[in-house]
Amino acid sequence: MPREKRADEIFCESCGEPIKKVAEICPHCGVRNIRYERASTQMISKPQRKFIHAPSQYETTVSENWYYLVGACTALWVIGFVLMEIWEGAAVLIFIIAWIGLPIGIYFDMQYVRANSRWNPNTIGWLILSIIWFVNIIAGLVYLYRRHETLGIP
Ligand SMILES: [Zn+2]
Repeated sequence: MPREKRADEIFCESCGEPIKKVAEICPHCGVRNIRYERASTQMISKPQRKFIHAPSQYETTVSENWYYLVGACTALWVIGFVLMEIWEGAAVLIFIIAWIGLPIGIYFDMQYVRANSRWNPNTIGWLILSIIWFVNIIAGLVYLYRRHETLGIP
């Protein structure tokens, strides 16, 4: 017959013994305390929770190497602007490649980032930023920086 529970206790959902509310596992039967997990998720503060998404929801087969394209195209934009003064033909070609490549790189890399980190980048927002003249250089750099911050690589 289980004894009465105290104020800081609950009855174990498995064996019915009174256990501490803060206990992660029941010491009597070894079953996980369901209420403990509920309590710990509630402990996450609201502003933090806003940014938490479940990466497993976004499972993807997209490779992690798309950031190379993001990096390369950001660099190409810079090279294009430098080259414009001396060799316009080559600069235009570079712009075309970078203009197409950057959104593609960001688009696919975002899928990887979303599935593998806590950062959930805004697809439309980043795509728009990545195609606007001049802005896309900054967007590319900020993207790579944020990616580095969240994933730690590269
Ligand atoms: Zn128990």
